[in-house]
Formats: sequence, structure tokens, C-alpha cells
Amino acid sequence: MDKNYYDILGVKKDATDDEIKKAYRNLAKKYHPDLNPGDASAAEKLKEINQAYEVLGDKQKRENYDNFGTADGSNGGFSGFGSGGFEGFSGFGDIFSSFFGGGFGGSSRNRASMAQEGADIEVKITLTFAEAAFGAKKTINVTRSESCDICHGTGAKNGTDFETCSRCHGSGTIQTTQNTMFGQMVQQSTCPNCHGTGKIIKNKCPNCSGAGSIRKNRSIEINVPGGINEGQILTLRGQGEAGKNGGAPGDMLVVFAVTPHKLLKREGYDVYVDVPISFTESILGTKVNIPGINETLVLTVPELTQPGTVIMLKGKGTKVLNRASYGDLYAKIVVEMPKTLSKQDKELISQLDKNISKNAYSKRKQFQDKV
Ligand SMILES: [Zn+2]
Ligand SMILES: [Zn+2]
Repeated sequence: MDKNYYDILGVKKDATDDEIKKAYRNLAKKYHPDLNPGDASAAEKLKEINQAYEVLGDKQKRENYDNFGTADGSNGGFSGFGSGGFEGFSGFGDIFSSFFGGGFGGSSRNRASMAQEGADIEVKITLTFAEAAFGAKKTINVTRSESCDICHGTGAKNGTDFETCSRCHGSGTIQTTQNTMFGQMVQQSTCPNCHGTGKIIKNKCPNCSGAGSIRKNRSIEINVPGGINEGQILTLRGQGEAGKNGGAPGDMLVVFAVTPHKLLKREGYDVYVDVPISFTESILGTKVNIPGINETLVLTVPELTQPGTVIMLKGKGTKVLNRASYGDLYAKIVVEMPKTLSKQDKELISQLDKNISKNAYSKRKQFQDKV
């Protein structure tokens, strides 16, 4: 006990309860074994942090510590608190369950009593290509538990029909004293009768039968922003399952899937399309209808367009997420040769070929010169 608990948690001696809790949470998370597998020094450090918080996180023990230098005020140098690992920590379960899902050490035993954040709900929504591109209003139907508004989540009739727990007299904790070779050892643990709340429900809330929450079907309207892509997740804070014992509700995670377009391919906020035209069109120029995201566009192909030419249509892509701008559409010209020609066609083309100067084909000429 030669280390100062305030120093261990890195707080000032006049720190508020919240500051102490916050410091403890940060440190406990940092040195948690799940994040430091096999690191013995982290485990040692965590033990130290737990010891400090066990005392400073409790009003009475902190006062004793301030006045006498020990948590139980015995001035005897051995308090019995916190030295045994995770057993009997009253403030431990809620803190860990809130960021490690409650699966930690001895906390599960006490978990029922602690304020517990509600679970997240995951919902999958499939959008059409155009909905993902430009946004849409969608309705999500869920069945979720919600805090009972008659008893305000307490489970007691009118939210007030409690009596003080007879076992712990309302403190929520019980102390057992054992004589050990070190002297008298005081062990503090959560009251099993009231699960640490200090109160017992006298009459159950008839609305939720004492559960504190009820299942409800809900339709939730959401505005899907334009520019959403496959696999992206929208988090709706507080729209998940109800918390327990005063814990906050979880979140709703909306996971998006996007139906592919028949012809358009999307990359980021730009869209791409291959546009087949005939070889005569590529020579003479043409106008072709091509798909926009939710309109038909007219693409002007100038005369003598080379195969593979890409024509950009500015602003014809999807909306850019959370911006007032749009991506572009890229149309790639694919020149198609006829699969069959009549004898007459071939004669005409042959005549055409004779009429065109060899110098008109610059690539062809350069290649042959090099050969
Ligand atoms: Zn009790
Ligand atoms: Zn109720």
C-alpha cells in the first residue's frame, strides 16, 4: 500500500467522482488482458488500478483513505480490499460490461444488477442502384425491447413501489468479516438479495410484469443519404434494444446492400458504361441513347471516333455522400464489326478502301515503317 491511489489513477486529490470513474475506465481499458494478451506487467498494472478504483470509486472508502490512509479506516496497513483480484468488486461489472460485453472475469455474476447498455440491432436494407445513388426514404420494421414508460424501466408498480432490501438495508452491498492469519479481513460483495440496487420490488409493474421493458413493433423512417455504397453502415444512436437497470439503449446499425444496375458499373461516385456502336457509326458519327442512373441520356459520338474512346458526361454520376456535388459518367466506345457481309457489301468496302489514302491511318503506317 505504499503507492498513492490518486497517483495510480492519475487524478488530483480533489478529483470528482466522474473524473475518477473516467480515469479508471481509460486505464482499465488500456491494460485489459484482452488487449494485452500474455503481458504480465499489464495484468499487474490492472490489478493496481482496480485496487485504487475499488477505494477511490467508493465514497465511504475514499473518505477513510483520505483520513486514515486505508480503505476501511483500520489504520492497520491491510485493508483486505481489492487484493484478491476481481472478487467482490462492486463497481466493476458495469464498467466492463459497457465496453467488453460483460464477459469478463467475475463480473457476470453481478451483471444483472448493474446498469447495462442495450444490445445493438442490425438491420439490412437493399437499395436499388438509383436509391443508393441519390438517396431515398426507407421504412424499417423492427421488434425491439423498449423501456417500460409506466414504471420508467424499474419494473416496480408506478416506478415507485419498492421497499428497502432487508438484507443489506439499502446499501446494495454486504460485508463479511473473516479472521485470517493477517488479521481481520473485510470482504465486500454485491447483495445477492437485491442484486446491488438496495431495493426490492414490492409490487410488480402490471404493464411489463416487472421486467422493466416490453417488446414493441416499430416502424422507423430513415432518410438514406445519396451516395451510399454496398456494405456501408448507418448508425442510428439509441434505436437499439432497451438497456437494463437504467443503462442506455443500444444502437441500430443499418447495413446497406445495393442491387447492381443492368448496364452501369459504379466506382466510388462515378459510373461507367460500355457503349457498342457499329463500325460505320464510328466513321460517320452518331447519336446513341445510353442509360443514366435514372434517366436516358443522348451520347453524341463524333465522326471518326476511335474504338476505346471514353466520353465523360460531367455530373451524371451518383451524389457524393454528404456533399452537394455529383460524380461523372464515363461512356467507353466499343466499335463492333459486322458478323456477316454480302458480296455486294464487300465490293463496296473494297472500293472504299482503295479510295482512302494510306496516310489516313497514322498508327498503321508508323507500325509498318518500323517493321
Ligand atoms: Zn440488498
Ligand atoms: Zn413497467
